[in-house]
Amino acid sequence: MRLNTLAFRTAMGSTLALCAPAAMAQEPETPAGREALTVLQEAVAIPTVQGRRQVPVLAAKLKARLLDAGFAEDEVTFVPQGETGYLLARYPGRDRKAPVTAIIAHMDVVEAKPEDWERDPFTPVIEDGYLFGRGSLDNKAGLSIVAATMMKLRREGWVPAHDIVLGFSGDEETQMATTAAMASAIVHEAGKVDLILNADSGGGTLDAAGRPFVYEVQAGEKTYADYKLTLTDPGGHSSVRARPTPSPP
Ligand SMILES: [Zn+2]
Repeated sequence: MRLNTLAFRTAMGSTLALCAPAAMAQEPETPAGREALTVLQEAVAIPTVQGRRQVPVLAAKLKARLLDAGFAEDEVTFVPQGETGYLLARYPGRDRKAPVTAIIAHMDVVEAKPEDWERDPFTPVIEDGYLFGRGSLDNKAGLSIVAATMMKLRREGWVPAHDIVLGFSGDEETQMATTAAMASAIVHEAGKVDLILNADSGGGTLDAAGRPFVYEVQAGEKTYADYKLTLTDPGGHSSVRARPTPSPP
């Protein structure tokens, strides 16, 4: 449920370890890796469960970090939506009119009852090189790596060829209303989006020794739908279609 592009791999180096099952959290070797781990721990400690009004709290912390890394105030916007909302950040490129690349993730997590967990789900704990806590994988690892990567690049003064838009939704696990609104906002504001990278799909996994094990690329995801189908027919032989119902005179 996570994706890291080769760009992330290049930028983050060993931080990919964060994406392994149960969030491997071996001591990161780079400042950006350490920052990603810090952001992840901070995010896991905020219970962004539906109904707890905590998504805006996490969004405010992410926004503060992005501003600290060099994003301008008007480039980072939190859009409230009920008790949740979504965060948009615009990373200006050299060609401001070119189609943008969007990188998306979600800030919310599924409910977790402490009695069902060995450790408190909203207290990030590192044990044996793994970080435990609700959302340590889905999707706060991806969220943290995206945020930390962009912060690193912005601090270093890197300017992308065209704009990058970060979009962090706030109810992906439940209603997905912020996801829909965020998608509309990105398209409306950016005009054209030529590539969307989703931190909640695909991703790299390391084995127990920390070696690259598998890298998954996901191009799409099934969605849920109910259909109620009603057919009426007077019946007949299964291999012969029924006679057409006579049209009313
Ligand atoms: Zn997810």
